[in-house]
Amino acid sequence: MSNFHSRHIAVIGAGIVGLCVAERLLSEGHRVTVVDPAAPGGAQAASYGNGAFISPASVLPMSAPGLWRQVPKMLLDPTGALSVRLRDLPGLLPWLWAFLRAGNRPGNVARIAGDLNLLLRDAPARHAELAARTGQSDLIRQTGLLYAFRDRAAWQAECSVWQIRAECGVVMEDCTAARLRALAPDLSSDYGFGILISEGAHCVDPGGYVAGLARYLTVSGAELRQDRVLGLDLSGGQLRGLRCAGGDLPCDRAVIAAGIASAPFATEAGDRLPLAAERGYHVEIADVPFRLDVPVMPQDGKMANVTTRGGLRAAGQVEIAVPDAPPNWARAEVLLSHLKRSYPALAGRSHDLKRWMGCRPSMPDGKPVIGRASAVPEVIHAFGHGHVGLASAPATAEIVADLIAGRPPRRDSAPFSPARFGCGVALRGPT
Ligand SMILES: Cc1cc2nc3c(=O)[nH]c(=O)nc-3n(C[C@H](O)[C@H](O)[C@H](O)COP(=O)(O)OP(=O)(O)OC[C@H]3O[C@@H](n4cnc5c(N)ncnc54)[C@H](O)[C@@H]3O)c2cc1C
Repeated sequence: MSNFHSRHIAVIGAGIVGLCVAERLLSEGHRVTVVDPAAPGGAQAASYGNGAFISPASVLPMSAPGLWRQVPKMLLDPTGALSVRLRDLPGLLPWLWAFLRAGNRPGNVARIAGDLNLLLRDAPARHAELAARTGQSDLIRQTGLLYAFRDRAAWQAECSVWQIRAECGVVMEDCTAARLRALAPDLSSDYGFGILISEGAHCVDPGGYVAGLARYLTVSGAELRQDRVLGLDLSGGQLRGLRCAGGDLPCDRAVIAAGIASAPFATEAGDRLPLAAERGYHVEIADVPFRLDVPVMPQDGKMANVTTRGGLRAAGQVEIAVPDAPPNWARAEVLLSHLKRSYPALAGRSHDLKRWMGCRPSMPDGKPVIGRASAVPEVIHAFGHGHVGLASAPATAEIVADLIAGRPPRRDSAPFSPARFGCGVALRGPT
């Protein structure tokens, strides 16, 4: 029996976003069912293979002023740090156009950074609390995060974006070569300058963290249903439940948190939203003769280097492509060879290596969609977290809980509204 305070809420997707939302809703007394065809923490989800950074500095969108000049390179160099899969170009053109425009409008990068800062400024603290509540404190480490440059001049060449981070209140410490060595003794001496984000944190097992959240939810009373959601049951013009491969699931509210698979559900609820895959890769080496106590982002490679429970992971690359295109493993080789150059102790060794490809669920402006669906207010969008889904999941959950409770939001959620794309669609009449 549902009442104003306690509702049956179905969450579509058991990635980091869906499970953070579920944890929050359960703690507020709701009945929660999470539906996912795959086991939580599995390699099908972006939440499994990411770079593990929980960084208040990740406020900048991928799109930047003048990026359009790199379009030929993006199309012609399939292993460049940012590329578009040529054969997918026709279908991706509208998204790509919106993506290039997002960074090119004057002042927009700073505006987007200010918006993402709403989700990221306290992300390390929120994850530390979540991990403590769910018995996983050993997985979240508040060691800081190190951005490494060849020299101070390389940092100065990017100083406008670091200025934006400073304006967001990100705490940064300049690191001389000696300080860099002290923080990351195994990093190549080719790197002579660094910025330490002292408030940054990381997760030593992103997939394990998700699986642990699922276990916690199950013992705390949520239901995890292994099933594929096929669509929303909107008979009579309002949400009745979810249509699943294994049978219908009646519910009062639904949260769309299916990562890259979210768009068709959003369309059913009245919002045709521009979601595309920025595919990324990782390599993970099991037998490494050192560990990184502080994760490193070598700025020339734009990849996260982090010691996880599985070994040394390098995660990065942006490949704008259809989600189910075959992986281009040459991209994993790019990550591996950069890793070998960055850590001389890896040279000349054979490695026990794992490779992975996954889809960042990305909106063209780099911001997630968090808000009520335009045509079905019982449906809440919580997807499109792009490069920052791990870090921003707890803040997303807080906003979703406020929306479901009908409370004034503790965080401004207007910048994440689906309405910013002006893509409402007329719903079919009652069926
Ligand atoms: C290489 C790489 C590096 C990254 N590095 C970082 C980083 O350092 N820090 C950071 O914050 N973020 C990072 N990200 C981004 C982050 O991983 C994602 O934004 C985040 O994992 C998205 O979480 P999600 O829960 O929305 O989606 P996912 O983790 O993809 O989960 C979606 C879930 O929905 C399920 N699903 C799909 N279809 C259905 C259906 N029909 N019915 C029910 N369920 C369904 C899937 O099985 C899946 O479990 C990185 C991403 C990549 C690829």
